Amino acid sequence: MQISVVIPLYNEEESLPELTAWIERVMQEHGFTYEIIFVNDGSTDGSQQVIRDLAANNPAIHSIAFARNYGKSPALNEGFKMAQGEVVITMDADLQDSPDEIPELYRMITEDGYDLVSGWKQKRYDPLSKTIPTKLFNATARRVSGIKNLHDFNCGLKAYRRAVVKHIEVYGDMHRYIPYLAKNAGYKKIGEKVVHHQARKYGTTKFGLDRFVNGYLDLATLWFQSKFGIKPMHIFGLLGSLMFAIGFLAVLAVLILKIVSICSQHYHFYVTNSVYFYLALAAMIMGLQFFLTGFVGELITRNSPERNNYLIAEQF
Ligand code: UDP
Ligand code: MG
Repeated sequence: MQISVVIPLYNEEESLPELTAWIERVMQEHGFTYEIIFVNDGSTDGSQQVIRDLAANNPAIHSIAFARNYGKSPALNEGFKMAQGEVVITMDADLQDSPDEIPELYRMITEDGYDLVSGWKQKRYDPLSKTIPTKLFNATARRVSGIKNLHDFNCGLKAYRRAVVKHIEVYGDMHRYIPYLAKNAGYKKIGEKVVHHQARKYGTTKFGLDRFVNGYLDLATLWFQSKFGIKPMHIFGLLGSLMFAIGFLAVLAVLILKIVSICSQHYHFYVTNSVYFYLALAAMIMGLQFFLTGFVGELITRNSPERNNYLIAEQF
């Protein structure tokens, strides 16, 4: 099978028939062997019935329906597990992404050798309240992830070599950073294609403004994981040592002050009057905590099934 189209959806009953007909038309025109996997993320409208009806007419249509709404990332993750095509294409169900892009995306993966190609909605049809924060978000993501050539991390329309989706785990809200996940998993050839974007035709957006706050927090998590995920002691141990060093200097300062005051017969000088005393106390406690966090982190990574999971490029 050449192409798997994975479509996460949450209450999109109006769009589904049109979207399906469009994908079918493109696939037939180009003679692709394909499957469409609808991952119904706990829709409460009639989406699942619509999917059943569509599947009755086309054996290439498959569906996974969650019992409740888990989110776009879990939906993608389950769709990825099921996908069998040589190239896996994800798109949103709301008709904002165009199935006409599929043939070129397929070609970029199979002929140009990309591991992942992300759509770029160069001209967006979303409200300004969304496009401006998105620009900022993408600039930060580019810097932190080191994937300098991507303009649009969170485009729903993406294409992957099958191995990529089988090796990454999309969880929480991490669908925004799939290129970063892929890069961390060892897939370096990440490209971009300008895609057409349309205003939402039916229904409403499923994400509010909290996407930006959560987006930044997730980026911090991913950065930390990629830097120190398998060696947490390297960061916590460093911070702990720094704190202990500050603490020791402060203790030294307190001792010197005390000795000086005794020698000069200022017997009423108490160490608790010195700012260094409190500095020493705080720094020592923080240092200890950093070290303990480091040890606990090491124990956790020791138990992680991922700890010895490497992507091998070549082996003789
Ligand atoms: N979606 C989903 N689960 C959710 C929220 C959204 O499967 O909890 C789907 C949604 O149905 C759509 C895609 O994810 O197919 C993108 O959502 P949306 O169009 O609302 O996002 P936007 O285009 O506003 O960024
Ligand atoms: Mg949308």
